[in-house]
Amino acid sequence: MAEKLQPPRGTQDLVGDDYRRHAHIIETAQRIAENFGYESIATPIFESTSVFKRTIGETSDIVGKEMYTFEDRGGEELTLRPEGTAGVIRAVISNGLTQNMPLKLIYNGPMFRYERPQLGRRRQFHQLGVECLGVAHPYVDVETIALGVQILKALGLFDQTVLEINTIGDIASRQAYRQALVDYFTPYKDKLSLDSQDRLVRNPLRILDSKDAGDQAIIVEAPEFENYLNDISRDFFAQVCAGLDQLAIPYKSNRRLVRGLDYYNHTAFEFVTTDLGAQGTVLAGGRYDGLMSQMGGPETPGVGWALGIERLALLLDSLTDQPRPIAIIPVGETAFADCFALAMKLREAGCTADIAYSGNVGKRLKRANKINAQVAVMIGDDELANQQAIIKNLDSGDQKTVAISEVFEYLSN
Ligand code: ATP
Ligand code: MG
Repeated sequence: MAEKLQPPRGTQDLVGDDYRRHAHIIETAQRIAENFGYESIATPIFESTSVFKRTIGETSDIVGKEMYTFEDRGGEELTLRPEGTAGVIRAVISNGLTQNMPLKLIYNGPMFRYERPQLGRRRQFHQLGVECLGVAHPYVDVETIALGVQILKALGLFDQTVLEINTIGDIASRQAYRQALVDYFTPYKDKLSLDSQDRLVRNPLRILDSKDAGDQAIIVEAPEFENYLNDISRDFFAQVCAGLDQLAIPYKSNRRLVRGLDYYNHTAFEFVTTDLGAQGTVLAGGRYDGLMSQMGGPETPGVGWALGIERLALLLDSLTDQPRPIAIIPVGETAFADCFALAMKLREAGCTADIAYSGNVGKRLKRANKINAQVAVMIGDDELANQQAIIKNLDSGDQKTVAISEVFEYLSN
């Protein structure tokens, strides 16, 4: 065995409070999404590589350098999912659900990207996401964003975030803008990062998403998408903004916001915090009307987002309001049977009860304090002889003797 076993680089065990915060985010989001009519879906954590390659885009960082792709023993080309949307759309097509529109689906689970690990950036991380399929109306974009707002509010994190929003227009607008970007960046070609030189040929819009400092300096002066939007795109975005205004959801227009994945159109948005350094985006999404047909399904509009569970968990305070258990402490072997019966009765009634199995009384009481028990029930030989138990309030230190037959009733009050 290795001297010190560690999880693989960029992965993390979820233990104790980390696990609780993680689960709390999922439970909160699911509860609220249910009110919006969302249904849960789970898809495999690996898919045929083509599911991601074609949809996310060959020139994206994800497909270009982040995917965990492997050939299995049967020679299948597989990839651990780097994101959730492509798999969900694949599942909708595979299960013949394309006739059941509209569909509102929510998922959560691990995602995998080969990235440089840092705070809020992991190689295995977890997302929870929603996809609303089959409705082209701009108010669905608003509704989807409003769902994100409500979840962030319920987590107590909304005030730490800013909603940034942009439109990347329809296909015609994007083609016009693409040409404008090629015209602008071509004279700077040699100054761009190697990645962006490649993007200039294959997908110039993606240069705007570059995190390279040299690229950023050139991007500042690049033409604005705004000036290349056609009327349809402009009108769609105006309706989204009007809907947000109507719901009094504050937002900041960010004309440089493009998403890292190829399949988006019209609305793009991110909830960003300044509390996590460069990893500030906690929830991000947009509209992806062409995705379903691109994957071989019928033409179907869609809009959705994904939140990063680790990043939100970093912002959450510890969850201390756990139910406080009742510590059952048998003092000596003979009391075990009665203690065991009492613990089971309490649990059946919905209480949290913990039986201390080993150590002297002092040690067992120490454990009771460690698990934050509110009361300890102690039964020793003397008590057993009188069919009594000592009930100790661990906060005040007060103790009381109660008949064993009445302990359950006493504790229930
Ligand atoms: P970033 O710009 O930070 O790399 P992204 O655009 O790649 O983010 P998306 O693909 O939009 O991220 O994923 C949605 C959310 O998932 C992100 O906003 C973030 O909260 C979370 N996320 C993405 N990549 C990671 C990662 N490697 N580790 C932890 N969380 C992540
Ligand atoms: Mg990324």
